[in-house]
Amino acid sequence: MNQTRVQKLNDAPYTEGGVLYWMDREMRVTHNWSLRHAFDVALEHNVPVGIVYNLVADYLGGGARQYQFKLEGLREVEAACKEKGVPFTVLLTGDTVEDLATFINEQNVGYVVTDMHPLRMNRTWKTELARKISVPLDVVDAHNVVPVWVASEKQEFAARTIRPKIRKHLDTYLDETMRIPSQDLTWSGFPSTDWKTLEAADVDDTIAPTDWKGGETAAKRALQAFIDDRLRGYDEGRNDPMANALSGLSPYFHYGMLSPQFAAQQVLATSAPRADRDTFLEEAVIRRELSDNFCYYNPNYDKVDGFPDWAKKTLDAHRKDERPYVYTRKQFEEARTHDDLWNAAQQEMVKTGKMHGYMRMYWAKKILEWTPDPETALRYAIYLNDRYELDGRDPNGYVGVAWSIGGVHDRAWTERPVYGKIRYMNANGCKRKFDVEGYVAKWVSGYTQGTLNLDG
Ligand code: FAD
Repeated sequence: MNQTRVQKLNDAPYTEGGVLYWMDREMRVTHNWSLRHAFDVALEHNVPVGIVYNLVADYLGGGARQYQFKLEGLREVEAACKEKGVPFTVLLTGDTVEDLATFINEQNVGYVVTDMHPLRMNRTWKTELARKISVPLDVVDAHNVVPVWVASEKQEFAARTIRPKIRKHLDTYLDETMRIPSQDLTWSGFPSTDWKTLEAADVDDTIAPTDWKGGETAAKRALQAFIDDRLRGYDEGRNDPMANALSGLSPYFHYGMLSPQFAAQQVLATSAPRADRDTFLEEAVIRRELSDNFCYYNPNYDKVDGFPDWAKKTLDAHRKDERPYVYTRKQFEEARTHDDLWNAAQQEMVKTGKMHGYMRMYWAKKILEWTPDPETALRYAIYLNDRYELDGRDPNGYVGVAWSIGGVHDRAWTERPVYGKIRYMNANGCKRKFDVEGYVAKWVSGYTQGTLNLDG
């Protein structure tokens, strides 16, 4: 495998013991470069591979909705590991670093491999663990087609600046294939998962799970259904929230149940029109990897401080502008604004765990318009996104919100109240693009046709 996918997090030497793959971002057994690397190291030393997943019940504000999806995925990982003879366990961690360090000690682990994760908390776990243990710890970027540190060494300005950098390396990384072998060696004493404890864990259940099914099988099925039924026409239909045109893959990418590299390979291998395949590649590779680039290189990815200077300046200049409406977080959460379209988008997210991509932009921009300041807007948008979206707590979420509210990866537009030079969106623009009334009727219960209240 291409070794540039791997980075060493410490200088500890290997002496003896099995190779532990600490699965963090990539909840899958197939097409997983981290697991492949763990096998490569293990085969070199003739020792077994074992896998541990650290489960944090309330990870970044998620609750039962996200937890159930993860458990479904983890059960499948367990079954796939069993088939391959690889021991697997889920650790319900309180203090992730402490718990993993203890596990590594108790299991006589000789080498640790883990996934690259650009978010603050996961990165801190890794640097702290690397310092705490006396065995090697390698991190592998198994999420991006082109590893985040290869694509660029710095924060990129926009899609236009990262696109040529990713394209330059695309052939090298996109085409590389792999196989995850089966294992004959055993790892005596490796614990199994206590599912009863996981199922009884104290998880906030105020937001109900959705019909989405988690796991690698569901992810591959979703990819195939997209290719068979919706890839043709994706380019044209993807901005219409009333057309069932999107891939629906974001929850699977987010939890690592589906490899973006595999998805891109499969889509490119079809005979679908070039425009549809290219647009999918633009979204699932360029835009998604641009989000990872932002979070990887900008420690303030979820703060106003992380916005570009021009955006901070213009938002500051309009700080005192009168807001036409100001809502509390609760009013937003309960979809009680004056704008039926906004309320419909919020309801779509609350009910299904996945708001349409086009509406996400409108939704976040209106939060900027209807809150006292950009800091509050950013806080509310992230809170709601992370709490209700199945794909929330993801670099794409932090970047999507920062693009909408703080001009990240965008440019200055015509100046107007509240927004300053941040790109503006209004309901009339949506009306020109899709059947707004139909969308509201679909998501706002009790809505009567013809009584639409829209903002601007
Ligand atoms: P498709 O259009 O089929 O796209 C395929 C894949 O391309 C997606 O799964 C995703 O990985 C990637 N992609 C698509 N659009 C974008 C984009 N604008 N930026 C980066 N990658 C993209 N995406 C999340 O994964 N999690 C989030 O929490 C999230 N929150 C968002 C919040 C706001 C305010 C905005 C404006 C965007 C957000 N996005 C988020 C990005 C995008 O809206 C979703 O990725 C997309 O709607 C997911 O649905 P899909 O997989 O069916 O999309």
